[in-house]
Amino acid sequence: MNALRTVALWAAAVAFPMPLMLVYEAVATEPVNLMQLVQFALIAYCWWLLAILLSARPRWLDRLVGLPQVYRLHGVLGLGALVLAFIHHQDSYTSNGLAHTLGDWGLYLSIAALCLAVFFLSGWLVDRSRALLRARRFLERVVFRHQLSIWLHRLNIVVVLLIWLHAHVLTRMNQYAGFMILFDLYTVVVLAIYAWKKWVAPGTQLQGTVVGNEARGASTRRLSVELDRPDPAVRPGDFFFLSLEGTTAVGRERHPFSVTDDGQKILAFTIRQHGDWTNRLGEVEHGTRTRLEGPFGRFDAAVAAHSAEAPLVLLGMGAGVAPLLSLAAAHHTSRRIHLLWSVRTPEDLYYRDALDEYVAASGGRTKVTTSVGRFRREDLEHELTDEVLRTGAFFIVGPSPAVLANQRLLRRMGVTRGRIHQERLM
Ligand SMILES: Cc1cc2nc3c(=O)[nH]c(=O)nc-3n(C[C@H](O)[C@H](O)[C@H](O)COP(=O)(O)OP(=O)(O)OC[C@H]3O[C@@H](n4cnc5c(N)ncnc54)[C@H](O)[C@@H]3O)c2cc1C
Repeated sequence: MNALRTVALWAAAVAFPMPLMLVYEAVATEPVNLMQLVQFALIAYCWWLLAILLSARPRWLDRLVGLPQVYRLHGVLGLGALVLAFIHHQDSYTSNGLAHTLGDWGLYLSIAALCLAVFFLSGWLVDRSRALLRARRFLERVVFRHQLSIWLHRLNIVVVLLIWLHAHVLTRMNQYAGFMILFDLYTVVVLAIYAWKKWVAPGTQLQGTVVGNEARGASTRRLSVELDRPDPAVRPGDFFFLSLEGTTAVGRERHPFSVTDDGQKILAFTIRQHGDWTNRLGEVEHGTRTRLEGPFGRFDAAVAAHSAEAPLVLLGMGAGVAPLLSLAAAHHTSRRIHLLWSVRTPEDLYYRDALDEYVAASGGRTKVTTSVGRFRREDLEHELTDEVLRTGAFFIVGPSPAVLANQRLLRRMGVTRGRIHQERLM
């Protein structure tokens, strides 16, 4: 079912430029080769617009296919658009100097935005090379903070504006009034939705107040936020983009964090401190106002999609235990659960008591295994029976390299792809 929705989303992306292309084809009288180059440019332009729409993180789309799938499409559209724009740029010609300059700048900026995103925002390169991952982490410490990369990535909007102007000054485009109206409609609708999501919608987002902020282990905090009103849309395992208001110690940036239990009024977040923003969390006082964009996530839907008899194997690394604890809180009395939690030091096993309570209340359904240091193949072979490997639903959460390594390991142990769900924290 999820695969079907994903196919439908990609098909919709392919179809998105069609109306504009068909109208151009109907009205334009250019030679065929030039017409084709214009069509390439129209597809590229529409895909840039769509990529901008997707970057606004539509929640309904997240619930449908998951945010990682939305980001993947966003990235592929950006790359596809650049390839088409490049062909258009190489092979088409114009005597209009302004159109030429605008086209050049649009292309150069989109190349810069794509390179930045591929290296700093996506896992396309760093998930495949430890050296590149180390280089990215180093650069993120000294120059390119993650938030800066997110800001620079918004160059995409400048690219769209340049290309919009490029089309408007070209006679081969602007002579067709009907086509230009549709072209402007595409642009205005997308940019208006984006502007609404960025500047108006935050006013309607969930808000709450910090009611707890305690240290857990050596480098983790548990931050509790009481919502102004309970939100029935929050599902176990969900995550929010959290920002703190009016505090000078911690910037107003938005950072994603998973809920740690299954409440809908007080949400607890388990936050590992390892960067600029998270390291300052100790200074956040009770009563600090908070904005929460979300909830996002598909873990609860994934649990529901597996048969009620299928055991849940929850494999968490460090603070990655947060959404898994939330799933355990919701399902420990009704489903078979095996939670495996690996941490760096014994002090980091800060949820031992909570886990013991779930085990005690589960009537023998829940089992917990902890490890200081990662689980190796022999550990998993020892902990997981053949039946669990054959029928279980697996949820892996932690840093990206560790999640990918565990996914590969489970695949080698016979767990099928469709039974593995994961969330990568960085
Ligand atoms: C879906 C999801 C759920 C998460 N849940 C948790 C959680 O429950 N507990 C927890 O401790 N951590 C969680 N994280 C990771 C957490 O968001 C980052 O550790 C945090 O934002 C780092 O911010 P920083 O400024 O302190 O670090 P920085 O120095 O800015 O960044 C450190 C690393 O964190 C990542 N990061 C930074 N900002 C963002 C952002 N806005 N979006 C995505 N990644 C970012 C980057 O990969 C970067 O390399 C989650 C991440 C995602 C994507």
